[in-house]
Amino acid sequence: MAAAMEAKGFEHMGLDGRLLRAVAELGWAVPTAIQAQAIPLALEGRDLLARARTGSGKTGAYGLPLLHKLLGVKEASPAVPQAVRALVLVPSAELARQVCHTLRRLAAFCSRQLRVAELCGHSDIADQRPVLMEQPDVVVGTPGRVLAHVAGHSLTLRPWLEVLVLDEADLLLSFGCGDDIRALLCHLPKIYQAMLVSATLNPELEALQELVLHNPVQVLPPEPRLPGVSQLQQLQVRCGTEEDKFLLLAALLKLRLLRGRALLFVGSLPRAFRLKLFLEQFGIPACTLNPQLPARSRCHVIAQFNRGLYDYIVATDEEGTAETPRQGTARKGGKKSVPRKGDKRKGQSPRCPQDPEFGVSRGIDFQNVAAVINFDVPNSVETYIHRVGRTARGDNPGTALTLALPQEMEALRHIEDALPGENGQSLLQPYEFKMEEIETLRYRCRDAMRSVTKQAVREARLRELRQELLNCEKLKVYFEDNPRDLQALRHDRPLHPANVQPHLGHVPEYLVPPSLRGIANPNPKKRKGPRGAGRGGKKPRGSGNPLQSFRFTRCGNKA
Ligand code: AMP
Repeated sequence: MAAAMEAKGFEHMGLDGRLLRAVAELGWAVPTAIQAQAIPLALEGRDLLARARTGSGKTGAYGLPLLHKLLGVKEASPAVPQAVRALVLVPSAELARQVCHTLRRLAAFCSRQLRVAELCGHSDIADQRPVLMEQPDVVVGTPGRVLAHVAGHSLTLRPWLEVLVLDEADLLLSFGCGDDIRALLCHLPKIYQAMLVSATLNPELEALQELVLHNPVQVLPPEPRLPGVSQLQQLQVRCGTEEDKFLLLAALLKLRLLRGRALLFVGSLPRAFRLKLFLEQFGIPACTLNPQLPARSRCHVIAQFNRGLYDYIVATDEEGTAETPRQGTARKGGKKSVPRKGDKRKGQSPRCPQDPEFGVSRGIDFQNVAAVINFDVPNSVETYIHRVGRTARGDNPGTALTLALPQEMEALRHIEDALPGENGQSLLQPYEFKMEEIETLRYRCRDAMRSVTKQAVREARLRELRQELLNCEKLKVYFEDNPRDLQALRHDRPLHPANVQPHLGHVPEYLVPPSLRGIANPNPKKRKGPRGAGRGGKKPRGSGNPLQSFRFTRCGNKA
C-alpha cells in the first residue's frame, strides 16, 4: 500500500461521519497518495482524471466522495425520488464484484440510505431486473450489461444521475468497451460529475476523456512503479546455455517447485509456441496469448485464466505491439530498447498482422499471479516493469524470476541499474541453485527440445489459427444460443504437432533430485474440476514466496 503523501487525515476532509466510521472500521488510518489528492478535489465537485493502479486505494479515492455526495443529495431534500444516482463502469465482472464490495463496506453505516448494486454478465439479465426496480443509489457494472439494461428500460439514468466513474479506463478500452460507453453516454443527463481512473494515461484515452470529462483536474500522485521488496521478490538467475533455461523451467514446473499460477514471458511469438510445445512434452498444459488472434479470443483466454482454468500462460510483448509508439513510454521518452549481444532471436519473429491494442504486459488484469517468469530478458526497463507488475497485485505477494543467458546479461544489467535496491544493491537478487541437482532431468529435457522443431512450431501456429477460425464460425451461429458451450472451448488443449512422447510426462522417483524426494510431486493425480478450482478465485494470500520450496536452492543469506 502506497504511503500517504500528505499529513491530512480522513477526518480533516469534511467527509460524512458515517463514512469516517466505516473508514476506521476498515483500518484505513491515513489516506493513500491518490486518496489524499483526489478526495478533496472530488468533494469540490470537480471532474477528475486520475492515474492510479490497482492496490493504490483508488476505489476509496472515488468511492468516498461519491457516497458523500449522494448522502448530501438525499438529506438536503428528503422528498427527492429514489433513483440510480451514481454509475461506476468497470471492465470485468471480477472488478465489478470487488468495487461493489468495497463501496458496500464504505457505506456500511449508512446502508439504509445508500444501496449499491452490481450488474455484470455473470448473472442472468432477468435476475437483475428486480434489483434495479428498487432503484439502487449506486450501480457498479460492465458497460455491456449496463447498456443492455438501459436499452431494455430496466435502468434509467436520466435525469437523476449525479456521478459517473470510469474505473480502469485503459482496460475498458482494451477490452473493447469503447462503443458501449459511447452508447451509454447518450442516455446520461447533461450535467453530472465524472471521474476517470486509469493505470496508464495513454493517448488512446484522450477521445474518451473529451467525451466524458468537463474541465477535469488531473490527479497524478507519484507512485512507486513496482511494489516494495516485502511484497514483490525479484530474482534473477544466470543460465549458461539455452538448454539450461528449458531445463530449469521444466524442473520448476514439473517438480512443482513453483507454487501457484505463473505468466511466462518470452521474446517472440514463435518462441512462445516453442515453450508451450516443450511444456506439452512434459504433460504441463499451458496456453499462449497470441496477438494474432482476435481480441475476443484473447479476452477468453484471460477470463479463463482468471477463473482458474489453467495455471500457466506463455505471453510475449513483441516489438511494435506492446511497445507501439503510442503506448511505449520508453520510446516516447527517447529511451531505446536494450541491445542484446548476438541476439539470435532478432528477425526470428515474422511480422504478422497483430492487433495494435495488444499488449499483454500492459494493462491487462491477470489475477492471482504468484509469479512472473521472464524466460527471456525483456528488452527494456519499461517492459520489465510492465511484465513484473502482473504479479504482486493489490496486497498479494509475488515473485519475479528472470532467466538470463550470457548474451542477455547486458540487458539484465541495464534493468538492474535502472532499479537500484537498498544500499546500492540490485533489487534483482541472485537465485542461486545447484544445477547439478537437476542434471537427472537433462536427457528428458533434451529429448523434449528436440521434438519441438521449427516445423512443429509453424504447424502449431497454423493449427491454432485454423482452430480459432472454426471457433469463430461456430461462435457466430451457435454460441449466441448456447453461451455455456463457449466455456467448453478451452485454450490450453495440446496442439500436438510435435511428436508428444508420453513417457516424458511421467517423472519417475529416481529422476527427482535426491534433496526433493518425498517433497516434490511431479506426477500429481489428474484433477477433475478446473485447474486451480477452489483457489482460482482466491488470493494466494499467505502462500508467501512461491519459490520457497525450491529446496535445492542455496540463496545464501537472502532466501
Ligand atoms: P484498491 O486500489 O482500491 O483496489 O485498494 C487496494 C487495497 O487497499 C484494498 O484492500 C483496500 O482495502 C486497501 N486500502 C484502500 N485505502 C486504504 C488506506 N487508506 N489505508 C489502508 N488500506 C487501504
